[in-house]
Amino acid sequence: MPATNLQLPPDPPAGVGFDLDHTLLVDNKLERVAMLHVLEAIGEAGGPAERSLDAQSAAIDALLARGRAAGTPIDDVVREFARGHGVRDAEALVGLYRRRCLELVDALVIPEARVAEIVAALSDRGVSVAVLSNGWEPLQSAKARRAGFAGGPILTSGTLGVGKPEPAAFGALLTALGTAADRTWYVGDDPSGDIAGAQAAGLWAIWARAGADSYPAALPQPDAVLDAFGDLLELLPGASGAS
Ligand SMILES: [Mg+2]
Repeated sequence: MPATNLQLPPDPPAGVGFDLDHTLLVDNKLERVAMLHVLEAIGEAGGPAERSLDAQSAAIDALLARGRAAGTPIDDVVREFARGHGVRDAEALVGLYRRRCLELVDALVIPEARVAEIVAALSDRGVSVAVLSNGWEPLQSAKARRAGFAGGPILTSGTLGVGKPEPAAFGALLTALGTAADRTWYVGDDPSGDIAGAQAAGLWAIWARAGADSYPAALPQPDAVLDAFGDLLELLPGASGAS
């Protein structure tokens, strides 16, 4: 059952917004790797056993997740990391981190199958497309382009000053798409940030399950479920294989 329509309306969407990570692409811990380069530059990469690289990686993942959730500018996240390692003037490390992230996009970002084809097919049908992603510029735009997204705006929490699941983030998406909420689909993998957030803002929410076994029972259910991104067009009214 690759694409399951639970309660999408019978009309085609006027616009579709997309999450990036684990929806259009995987980035294989790109920002963790860039931060490990920063750690290497600090000279602590080969530290004592209690600060193994695995432990450092876990701490970096937690730091990045906290920053993303709080909407902390990425430069401040790098400064906090540097301070934690005894570096007071972190500006060179901030530059290193940003540079490494962009350099790693081609190697680490892998698109889901058929992203470019599906986005183009939506555009050909007159459906507006856009990305709404929690993250910073210019990294998220570089990742979106690497994934094959084209033909629409790329909105990021770093530029908007507000991120998912805040209704204002989805409001900015609707403005960029030029569509009404009840004619707009949002596709994402995160049940709270993407699905509950989009539904609270009045959009239709399609869960890209990204290998997850089940949907959290405590949250409102998505309006449709995708086992693979490449099956998105099956949800369009009249598409062969639509359920
Ligand atoms: Mg995601």
